[in-house]
Amino acid sequence: MTGPSGMTGDGAPAVDRSALMHTYPEPTVTFVRGQGTELWDVAGRRYLDFLGGLAVVSLGHAHPRVADAVAEQARTLVHVSNLFGTTVGPEVASTLDRLIGDGSPAGGQVFFANSGAEANECAIKLARRWAGPGRHVVVSAWESFHGRTLATLAATGQPAKHEPFRPLPPGFVHVPYDDLGGLERALEHAPVAAVLLEPILGEAGVIVPSSDFLAGVRRLCDEHGALLVVDEIQTGLARTGRWFAFQHAGLRPDVVTMAKALGNGMPIGACWARAEVAAAFGPGDHGSTFGGQPLATAAARATLQVMHEIDAPALAARAGARLTTALRRLPGVVGVRGAGLLLGVELDEPVAAAVCAAALERGLVVNAPRSDTLRLAPPLVVADGEIDEAVEILGAALAAVVDGDPGTETKASTP
Ligand SMILES: *Cc1c(COP(=O)(O)O)cnc(C)c1O
Repeated sequence: MTGPSGMTGDGAPAVDRSALMHTYPEPTVTFVRGQGTELWDVAGRRYLDFLGGLAVVSLGHAHPRVADAVAEQARTLVHVSNLFGTTVGPEVASTLDRLIGDGSPAGGQVFFANSGAEANECAIKLARRWAGPGRHVVVSAWESFHGRTLATLAATGQPAKHEPFRPLPPGFVHVPYDDLGGLERALEHAPVAAVLLEPILGEAGVIVPSSDFLAGVRRLCDEHGALLVVDEIQTGLARTGRWFAFQHAGLRPDVVTMAKALGNGMPIGACWARAEVAAAFGPGDHGSTFGGQPLATAAARATLQVMHEIDAPALAARAGARLTTALRRLPGVVGVRGAGLLLGVELDEPVAAAVCAAALERGLVVNAPRSDTLRLAPPLVVADGEIDEAVEILGAALAAVVDGDPGTETKASTP
């Protein structure tokens, strides 16, 4: 809040945001610095970041290896356009292919984009190009989130987000998540090019499907000649305890999209496809001015190298187990959903926004994707002591909200 002196209530200088579009709720905190799992605001207050920039800074804030890689690349070569070759992108592409193959080459190819939505745009265009004229439909799930561009918004299964922007691009069909019967009917009735699914619904509140769902989707896609596109933008790159969440289900997707954690905060997205599918694209079919440029891919190369060295999937699995156990003991928590360090904390009352605000006041960053669910996605390098501290703060925030502590019933973050 800004006082008459142009200072915030806690004495920090006010930031004039009037030249920004109002696409996000007014923030209550302004951050200036981060280190590992910690953040500091303009007033010098410390926070624990258990949201990780929305599952982005998986190695923690200001990771020295990523920072050095970006600085070094910035002094060497930032950008030349895709009319010319560069050395970093091809290397990162083959690393991603090996991670998708869980250690051995998966035999696919990568297109680099700048965001998650762009990675999904690539997947949607590729599926249409691969399937050919007339077989253009993309089936996705109700409640899913796939991005904010017009096509990825059309794929996103949230009618409220569609409404203000109609007409949306045609060719998108939605089915209930975790319902193979519904998916089968859609595949029978529409000319489907691809099924696009999150292996765990992230923005919808960390919803985990039945253990046999994805394998069933794979079988239905094979029966109907549709591609299986797995949106691993939030779940991918070690967060759920495997390199990719689809690996828990032991299946082979045709296309995998990723972004968030790939550059540990540097903007980069990628769309991987198995080679026969990728071959549907020829020169001129798709492109991006910035996509795959040396600066962003240098960040991704360093991120993936560090993740490999520290065995990030194992760290996520271990820390996730500790965090889940501790959260389940908190009064007011009725369940913890998710895998690894992508967790949805289900509350016994629809007070998630208030708990989120109360936690922020006490120095803990989380968010509230649903009225009864908090989402936690801390850096995978989070220390045991930080987990214990965060759970203690969350316990205090829950108690304060349940006791009706004044000043905590404020608006919290939205995804
Ligand atoms: C965040 C997210 C996206 C969109 O990524 P942007 O980088 O914001 O465009 C798409 N799909 C999933 C599952 C996501 O979590």
